[in-house]
Amino acid sequence: MRVVVVGAGLGGLAAACALRQRGFEVEVHERAAHLGEVGAGVQLGPNAVKVLRALDLEASLRRHAFEPGNRLTLNWNDASLRNAAATRGADALTYGAPYLTARRADLHKVLRAALPRNAIRLSRACLGAETRGGVAAAHFSDGSQVEADLVVGADGIRSAIREKLFGADKPRFTHSMCWRAIVPIEFVPARVGPGGAVAIDKTDHVSWYGPNGQVICYPIGDGSMLNVFAGHASEGWVEESWTLPSSRSELIDAYKGWNEALLTILGRADDCFKWGIFDRDPIGQWTRGRVTLLGDAAHPTMPNLAQGANMAIEDGYVLARNLAREPGDVDAALAGYARERQPRTRAITLKSRENFELSMRWPPAPPVDRSWIFSFDATQEPG
Ligand SMILES: Cc1cc2nc3c(=O)[nH]c(=O)nc-3n(C[C@H](O)[C@H](O)[C@H](O)COP(=O)(O)OP(=O)(O)OC[C@H]3O[C@@H](n4cnc5c(N)ncnc54)[C@H](O)[C@@H]3O)c2cc1C
Repeated sequence: MRVVVVGAGLGGLAAACALRQRGFEVEVHERAAHLGEVGAGVQLGPNAVKVLRALDLEASLRRHAFEPGNRLTLNWNDASLRNAAATRGADALTYGAPYLTARRADLHKVLRAALPRNAIRLSRACLGAETRGGVAAAHFSDGSQVEADLVVGADGIRSAIREKLFGADKPRFTHSMCWRAIVPIEFVPARVGPGGAVAIDKTDHVSWYGPNGQVICYPIGDGSMLNVFAGHASEGWVEESWTLPSSRSELIDAYKGWNEALLTILGRADDCFKWGIFDRDPIGQWTRGRVTLLGDAAHPTMPNLAQGANMAIEDGYVLARNLAREPGDVDAALAGYARERQPRTRAITLKSRENFELSMRWPPAPPVDRSWIFSFDATQEPG
């Protein structure tokens, strides 16, 4: 069986690894001329780490990933403590795998290294895919076409394959935006809060909550850098693009009046990029004929629960597991894939929306319960 995956993002590469592990022939076609990922960090919940473990990638991931010590939430103005919980060791014990943070580029490299070099074709912009006589065909901007038993659209939030199969979507701008930036870890203060009452360890995952926004900071890689994700209401329209450059001063301006310790961190931000937050309703169908979707192409989601990449990684594994269970019956496998994945990704997408709305209110609601997300194990057949 031959599978063509369109898009070599985190979802497409994880799917390719899972498909190869089951013995399928896989080719990945990527629009970009060079492989890579932007410099920002990614949080991997125990649910995604379980999949990477099943792909035999946990050890190489651990060489580049960080396991945060505690998870703290602080108030925006006086940095007083709202919540504290242990993460390091505790999540692994509770959920069967650790909570890890990494540079996206490092995770991308770990996935890439598990694939043969010639499995990924670059500068291959896909225009769409269709099924003719039980054969799937993907079409590319150079006029070429590739046929396979299955085409998987892993081509991200603005998926050309999704649009071709199901029509254009209608994203709603949420009048908020986020920044991503990197700060050397030494700028994390040791004590904050009234009278320095709150101790912060440089290993901690720290979220600041305030009116109209939140800032989430966590160490990545070897722990020497802090990844900053800052979300805030925005008057202006901001494009949905990882690569829209911003500046330190634009970032600091949005958080005027927030605690000095946070502003000191933001004042050291490098590689500042911004991204408009858009909302989309979950779609009810991912498959047409022998063409299906995964990752952001199937279930674009707001970044609030940090589960977009986690879900994409789960998708690939479940797709491969279903194809392996139904040898020779691609239709049954694709039906099984959708049956397993749609309820979960819909629930997480809608929870991300709810969490986004709560995060824009003040005072904020208590942290959402994520135990149902983390305890899930996509590597197991549903009971
Ligand atoms: C600020 C921010 C922070 C985030 N933090 C987290 C986090 O901590 N944890 C988490 O789980 N998720 C996070 N997410 C979400 C996560 O980044 C996405 O959900 C994830 O990258 C989706 O993976 P994907 O492979 O489906 O799509 P993508 O990563 O977008 O990859 C799509 C790939 O397809 C290629 N492509 C696109 N169009 C074509 C085409 N026509 N032909 C060929 N190739 C094409 C692209 O070049 C790209 O390589 C965050 C998102 C944002 C905006």
